[in-house]
Amino acid sequence: MSNVAQIPTSFGHELRACLRCKLVKTYDQFRESGCENCSFFNMDKDHEMVGECTTSNFTGVISVMDPSRSWSARWLRIARFVPGCYALAVSEALSDDLQALCEENRVQYVPPKHV
Ligand SMILES: [Zn+2]
Repeated sequence: MSNVAQIPTSFGHELRACLRCKLVKTYDQFRESGCENCSFFNMDKDHEMVGECTTSNFTGVISVMDPSRSWSARWLRIARFVPGCYALAVSEALSDDLQALCEENRVQYVPPKHV
């Protein structure tokens, strides 16, 4: 895992947000190097996971360069995540299987409230 997330190289519709941590990158970036916060999803090894763990269904993007000090990062509960671009809201939830995977890896998953 690197200390800084990749910054999206384009802002077209291939932009996707991780369903667990809301990190925003392009589809290709998720496929090539997975999610910097959720390496246990193994998106870089199992490319089908990119479709299951990320969504194009999100609103707003903020860039967070110092998550431990940013109030917006605290509000988004991403204070412990790597600096990068994050979605303000994701309107899809992880599947039950993937929520179980989070539990197995002892990572917190907070489902969106409006699903
Ligand atoms: Zn993630």
